[in-house]
Amino acid sequence: MSLQLDARQRAMLEEMGVRVFSPELPVGALDDALPSPPRGGEAALPAARVAVARPATVAEPVADRTPFSSARAMPAEIAAMDWDALQQAVAGCQACGLCQSRKNTVFGVGDTQARWLVVGEAPGENEDIQGEPFVGQAGQLLDNMLKAVGLNRQGTGAQGVYIANVLKCRPPANRNPQPEEVLQCEPYLRRQVALLQPQIILALGRFAAQSLLQHSVPDVATMPLGKLRGQVHSYEGVPVIVSYHPAYLLRTPQDKSRTWADLCLALDVMRAARPA
Ligand code: SF4
Repeated sequence: MSLQLDARQRAMLEEMGVRVFSPELPVGALDDALPSPPRGGEAALPAARVAVARPATVAEPVADRTPFSSARAMPAEIAAMDWDALQQAVAGCQACGLCQSRKNTVFGVGDTQARWLVVGEAPGENEDIQGEPFVGQAGQLLDNMLKAVGLNRQGTGAQGVYIANVLKCRPPANRNPQPEEVLQCEPYLRRQVALLQPQIILALGRFAAQSLLQHSVPDVATMPLGKLRGQVHSYEGVPVIVSYHPAYLLRTPQDKSRTWADLCLALDVMRAARPA
């Protein structure tokens, strides 16, 4: 699976300080040079778009490293579904044991024409009750993060974003998802990506990153999230930026500045991909 960057896009990334993968550069080595987001709460994240503040690495995808599509073929019936059919399929899904304890399935929310896709881990308690991803405090923080880059979960057009999780049902007591659950649920997310055709994916949290990159990044299961940040990965040919989950940021606010850097990197990838 390769990241489709042509010579012009690569040149633009270089010009902006987004370098092609360089193993010698320790990921996060320039974190200290990053500007911190403004203080005063998450809502105070700036609305202005700023240039990426550090050189980031663009991970060269490893050719033929068992991409999702060949590792596990999408069932033909799912591959043929439109948005409505897919949502109905998820609503009635009993493919894994999580169907027994869920209150609601959590399909996703946002603009189905959006260029941005945000992927989290799995529904929590509030999401399970409301049937919507990223609600509650973590959801508010995500909304503020999105506003900082000009996006809105109710927005369309340039402001549009689609938000989904790897798992569509809540694991009991918010335990970690099991591999079999991910295996069963993954075709739904992959179909969402195929229907949406986003220009960028923001993977929030270690689990989302591991799930999306499990077939393109060696040893991703044992890599800390910090080592996955600052690079442009790829999922189904779509650039992927990894950052922290908002729930983690609520507990560790000092990492908001790193998240801001990740958002800036995502913005720059989007700018680089935009036709001149
Ligand atoms: S988590 Fe996914 S695979 Fe499991 S029951 Fe829910 S929708 Fe189906």
